Amino acid sequence: MSVKDMKGRKVLIVEDERRIARFLQMELEHEGCTAAVEDNGSRACERLAREEYDIVLLDVMLPGLDGFSVCRKVREFSQVPIIMLTARDDIEDKVQGLDIGADDYITKPFATPELLARMRVVLRRQAAASGSDGSEEVLSIKRLCMYLARHEVMVGDVHVELTKKEYDLLEYMMRNKRTVLSRDQILSNVWGYDYMGDTNVVDVYIRYLRQKLDDKFGEKYIHTMRGVGYVIKE
Ligand code: CA
Repeated sequence: MSVKDMKGRKVLIVEDERRIARFLQMELEHEGCTAAVEDNGSRACERLAREEYDIVLLDVMLPGLDGFSVCRKVREFSQVPIIMLTARDDIEDKVQGLDIGADDYITKPFATPELLARMRVVLRRQAAASGSDGSEEVLSIKRLCMYLARHEVMVGDVHVELTKKEYDLLEYMMRNKRTVLSRDQILSNVWGYDYMGDTNVVDVYIRYLRQKLDDKFGEKYIHTMRGVGYVIKE
């Protein structure tokens, strides 16, 4: 899909001022987008957890939950592009918005071409980051996917938060999936040959990964081969 073209994009407009929401919806539909409107912050969060959108236009002042809180909450499970709509030309609002993971902001009132231009920029940036040109390396097993370029781990459409070491360990095991790896192999490849600590560290981190993957999603990824080591497999 060309990012110059907004056609077919699924947009969620989170805005409680009906007049503005309706206007945006019409403008976006005119561009060929599918535009849905939500007028309440907490309902917007629920909706974004349930449905996939290509981009979100998020007003700051909202009933239920304000736009900043919505953004922060959504970032716990989704990297959907978010553009904040702020009524006040307040630099602190903008900084706060970007700090909590918004991709851009636009101050009301704004002209439609400017909004569309910003939407295109954000979509293009996201396409580049996620390698939707097909160039990105993805390691996957069952519903678990590691997107190496953007350093992201997903199980289905749920984002998994890992520490640096957990990520490195998972990447090493995924690159060697279906191969049984000894503790020493894991230790030297993930922690380095000069690692001086306890070899139990491998077991500890395997346990962390199991909590975040196997236990959380109720699927078995990491298998113990008694007396040999660990393997990640279907
Ligand atoms: Ca509002």
